[in-house]
Amino acid sequence: MNKSYCAAAFNHIYSDSNSRYKLCCHAFAHTSEVSMYNSNEHSPFEYFLSPEMENIRDRMLEGQPIGGCEKCYDIEASGYRSPRQYRYNRHFENSEYPTEPCEVELKLRIFGNHCNLSCYMCIPYNSTTRAKELKEIGMYDQYSLGVDYEVLLSKDKFQNIEDDVIKNIHLVKTIHFTGGEPFLLPRHYSFLERIPDEHKEHIFVTYDTNGTVLEYKGKSVFELLRKFKRTSFCLSCDHYGDKLAFIRHPIDVKSFEDNIRTLQQVSKRDPKFKISELRATISILNVEDLYEIREYYKKEFNIKIFFNNVVNSPRSLNVKNHPRKEQLIEKYSGDPSMNSVLKNLSKPSNPKEWNDAMDYLEKLSNHRGINFRDYWTDYQKVELISLANI
Ligand code: SF4
Repeated sequence: MNKSYCAAAFNHIYSDSNSRYKLCCHAFAHTSEVSMYNSNEHSPFEYFLSPEMENIRDRMLEGQPIGGCEKCYDIEASGYRSPRQYRYNRHFENSEYPTEPCEVELKLRIFGNHCNLSCYMCIPYNSTTRAKELKEIGMYDQYSLGVDYEVLLSKDKFQNIEDDVIKNIHLVKTIHFTGGEPFLLPRHYSFLERIPDEHKEHIFVTYDTNGTVLEYKGKSVFELLRKFKRTSFCLSCDHYGDKLAFIRHPIDVKSFEDNIRTLQQVSKRDPKFKISELRATISILNVEDLYEIREYYKKEFNIKIFFNNVVNSPRSLNVKNHPRKEQLIEKYSGDPSMNSVLKNLSKPSNPKEWNDAMDYLEKLSNHRGINFRDYWTDYQKVELISLANI
């Protein structure tokens, strides 16, 4: 396949929490060729079947570069596999690549951004609890990227989108829910309930979930999802024990682990349900322990955890700034599952950003009443002059 073709333009509809339609969650907004479309004013299929999207699909088939996809092109130019390759095109390596819109996957952040956790590295427009905590420590403006605290479409606008999707439901193969925390979003349940049963049985439902909630209004989520073809759960999980509790504050670690066991038991009984993976977000607070984390979840749950996702924003939390990065590069080098981590570790460090991260973690610690240095005992500010020479 040529150097710009991406199946995402043929089978994926994505909108972010800022209401922007983009080719996928990796696509840049500032160079996007579809920036005129947003979920406040346009329905998903109006955007997806628009002349602008047709033009992008035609140019992709000719191998021309597309505005917004620079991240993938840059990753590939550095010799690594991009989301275009490992996420969207991989499924078609042994079959025909789509050349027309088909078998659509919906990933729409239109159901709200309510979340019960304040993960220390989360983009605040993906979690109301995170946004609230950042406001309380006086750092919301720095991290908010200009997005409002609580993002909820008006009832009428949401209704329009729901109507459009139901009208085109025969084109939909997969519905992907992401946060906020999807299992806490009432509109996600009402949307699922509107889908006629004869279509439910052909649709895959997938979730990015924090794994803290498996019930809604006294009903198990499995009961609500049983009529769909299959449901898979990708659980966010960045560490274990006390370190997990700090990173994903205020998670109840025991209840999270109980939920993993429940999901495993349910999927054993009913193959319609499965945990697709545990997915860690890699940052300065877990980059030292990735092998230990992998071992823990293998031993306790026999589940694989993936380390592809590395925090880039806020930049101060990126692993490139870790003062002992040379040792970490040595620890992980030669391991293909650590490619993304190694790629980030090899970027130039910025000691000022590391010190900003320490300031931020101290503020969070004071606010939460938990000192992060109880668990990361040697994380201190660095001398700017000495580290700048590394
Ligand atoms: S090329 Fe990359 S950025 Fe563009 S749509 Fe595909 S995965 Fe997204």
